[in-house]
Amino acid sequence: MTIFDISLTISPTLPTWPGDPGIQLELIESMDKGAQANVTRISAGVHIGTHVDAPHHFLNDGRTVEQLPLDVLTGPCYVVQLPDGVEAITSDVLQRTEITPDMKRILFGTRNSHLWARGETRFQTDYVAITEDGAEWLVERGVQLVGVDYLSVAPYEESTPTHEILLKAGIVLVEGLNLSKVMRGFYELYCLPLKIAGSDGAPARAILIQP
Ligand SMILES: [Zn+2]
Repeated sequence: MTIFDISLTISPTLPTWPGDPGIQLELIESMDKGAQANVTRISAGVHIGTHVDAPHHFLNDGRTVEQLPLDVLTGPCYVVQLPDGVEAITSDVLQRTEITPDMKRILFGTRNSHLWARGETRFQTDYVAITEDGAEWLVERGVQLVGVDYLSVAPYEESTPTHEILLKAGIVLVEGLNLSKVMRGFYELYCLPLKIAGSDGAPARAILIQP
């Protein structure tokens, strides 16, 4: 059994969405300074690193993150690896993949994962994302969970349509995956977002297990 950690490491150098609060980690009690224990304070938005979007992120009356179904967040999963030349995940691109109707959890590896592999610290606006027609294609296929390897499922300048289409269909969205060390194929996914009351999203630890 091989375990692949597909989560990003949360640190102040990790890029965050422009306008969102950045990531701050501060040692507020330090044993080096005579404290009984080390205690770190974290300050950040909830859409940092590897994280899950709840419907409430784009649908005001949508479910919040602590209500997301664990039986969707865990289970059999397929990783698609798209070639570096793919600039957007459109319905045409999806049509040409090996995705079959029985695949309910799908993670998309793209050239975005090279950014994580090389430790890029600047936010990129030209990341590969799912277009509106790509989102519709995934809904029609009855997919339950979609994962991407940058900080949003949607193109930078067009956040709303892709998010709305996928979240309205009840699809669980996992963003900020690092798929640079994973081959295409079948795995068992475990993605566990923090159980934050009333939140539109939450950081998650995500792993793939190869049987
Ligand atoms: Zn998000």
